[in-house]
Amino acid sequence: MSGLYFHIPFCKQACTYCDFHFSTDTKRRKEVVDAMHIELQRRAAELGNKGLGSIYFGGGTPSMLSDDQLRGFLDEVRSLSTIALSAEITIEANPDDITEEVLAQWKGIGITRVSLGTQSFRDDRLKWMGRAHDAQQALRSIDLISKAGFDSWTIDLIYGLPEMTIAEWDEQLTIALDHGMPHLSAYCLTIEARTALHHQVKKGLVRPANDEAQAEQFDRLIARMELAGLIQYEISNFGKDGHFAVHNSNYWKGVPYIGIGPSAHSFDGVMRRWNVSNNARYVTAIEKSERYWEEEHLTHAQRVNERLMTGLRTIWGVDLGTLGDDVLGREESTVKKYIDSGDLLVQADRLLLTAKGRRFADRIASDLFMSSIE
Ligand code: SF4
Repeated sequence: MSGLYFHIPFCKQACTYCDFHFSTDTKRRKEVVDAMHIELQRRAAELGNKGLGSIYFGGGTPSMLSDDQLRGFLDEVRSLSTIALSAEITIEANPDDITEEVLAQWKGIGITRVSLGTQSFRDDRLKWMGRAHDAQQALRSIDLISKAGFDSWTIDLIYGLPEMTIAEWDEQLTIALDHGMPHLSAYCLTIEARTALHHQVKKGLVRPANDEAQAEQFDRLIARMELAGLIQYEISNFGKDGHFAVHNSNYWKGVPYIGIGPSAHSFDGVMRRWNVSNNARYVTAIEKSERYWEEEHLTHAQRVNERLMTGLRTIWGVDLGTLGDDVLGREESTVKKYIDSGDLLVQADRLLLTAKGRRFADRIASDLFMSSIE
């Protein structure tokens, strides 16, 4: 079953490390929401009639939308298609938007899962990241979410911060585990181009963490989650049984999805399309019925490479049938080399990373890539 993604491109303030599309100018919020309704209506045929398996409000900061705006999107979807009874409906939220009342409203409109942008439980780190919340708000919102009766919930944490010690990371994980989270997404800080953090690093104001410290923190993360019974089902994602993210897992498995809103991506199995990453241009183009997206038909090699890049990061790996002789056929193939070195293994006709290989997932995947002329 396909997934549906809504990109809500607004934030209260810009986090220093963030390269997602968002605007802090919220004056256009209603215009953008209205334009997203029009996009949804025009693309109704793509929703199909099999029932959507997942809906995801991401961003940006979807928790900045009112209850009516969120309900409006879900009502629109129901009027155009069907949402499977078992569908996962996730909202990304920031701690400063969470109240008991808001959570009850979200439950009331059918949201089943909350993804909380916690990032850290330390005020100094949150301030450094430019987050709009403090540690107390993070803890309080986790407490409220855990009691609100959603099917599942998750928090995000960031490691690999400058001068982060293993003791600090351990403390972060202990706080998270003490709150009984059923799912964790833990990301290593990356310095993305055109972010405030990139600028600070270039000016020598910030010294990034070294690879060894980040690798040690990643290893500790895996060990602590394993001990707590959370399964590493994707490199950065850990969940208790029954709490794996459906929407994101389908994305990693190559299931089609439709993305609505500025910068949103869509994939139908052979074609990838992405909307313009500019709120004003998106609204104007929708109003004038002009084109607001670009698209590309993926070649066989591109499709294989995408399966490798996303699939290898998961416990489901990649179906050997997808890779075919192009990747596997050669006698001295790269696959064989990585199997011999203990980084890859084949199990039930699927190619998987071993625990050792997981540390180098992206590099191994790109080594296996088909060249476009193959
Ligand atoms: S709240 Fe999220 S999307 Fe917005 S700037 Fe911060 S990290 Fe980026």
